[in-house]
Amino acid sequence: MISFSAVSKVYPDGTTAVHDLSLEIPAGRITVFVGPSGCGKTTSLRMINRMIEPTSGVITIDGTDTRQIDAPQLRRGIGYVIQNAGLFPHRTVADNIATVPVLQGVTRREARRRATELLERVGLPTSMARRYPAQLSGGQQQRVGVARALAADPPVMLMDEPFSAVDPVVREQLQTEFLRLQEELGKTIVFVTHDIDEAVRLGDRIAVFATGGHLAQYAVPADVLRR
Ligand code: ADP
Ligand code: ADP
Repeated sequence: MISFSAVSKVYPDGTTAVHDLSLEIPAGRITVFVGPSGCGKTTSLRMINRMIEPTSGVITIDGTDTRQIDAPQLRRGIGYVIQNAGLFPHRTVADNIATVPVLQGVTRREARRRATELLERVGLPTSMARRYPAQLSGGQQQRVGVARALAADPPVMLMDEPFSAVDPVVREQLQTEFLRLQEELGKTIVFVTHDIDEAVRLGDRIAVFATGGHLAQYAVPADVLRR
């Protein structure tokens, strides 16, 4: 479980991005941060893996204050997926997926084998392994981004608008496949979107952010719809 306790973030220029956020994110579920642009969703997400440090408050993972875990170690257990996938353009699909396992000491051969397996899991033909990111469609790149984040088998995945840059038809496919995959994997997922329909479709729990970085509501999808 990930817990935010009275967490605030004020950027050096004085912008309050997140204001007094307290929230418990259950393990093994999809929790969605939803709200309009600029309301602190990405900042909140990036404080979980310490890409951004809170100004005040405490974030714990399974009871441990994240400040007591060094950042590289923390991030080994936390996959991270962003819009437009953020793939390394000069590496093949297989090498993109294999990057983290190789850094962790897995042999290149074994990492490639796992990469092939992961391609199948995210619904891509294994023939894509040798391509470069620019040779893939947007939807395919996002799938590779998910595969790369899964390669180290992290218990936690942070996903920042992962499906927002693709057209609606592909987005719906990605959502469906993502739900199927999650059913199998049971990761602790924090998913950021500005799209309330996507939030309701994917979320087990939904945190609705409002302007000024306030948490307006934290509820199950059915209760969010009722408002
Ligand atoms: P969201 O993900 O909901 O769009 P963000 O967390 O990206 O919101 O941003 C929240 C607020 O903080 C916005 O007003 C944004 O302009 C501001 N902000 C984000 N990053 C910085 C930064 N590095 N410096 C100053 N202000 C920032
Ligand atoms: P999607 O429906 O997933 O968005 P696209 O319509 O963009 O797919 O692409 C259709 C097919 O064309 C895909 O199999 C993709 O791999 C291939 N493709 C797209 N761009 C390129 C490229 N620059 N080089 C080679 N193949 C490409």
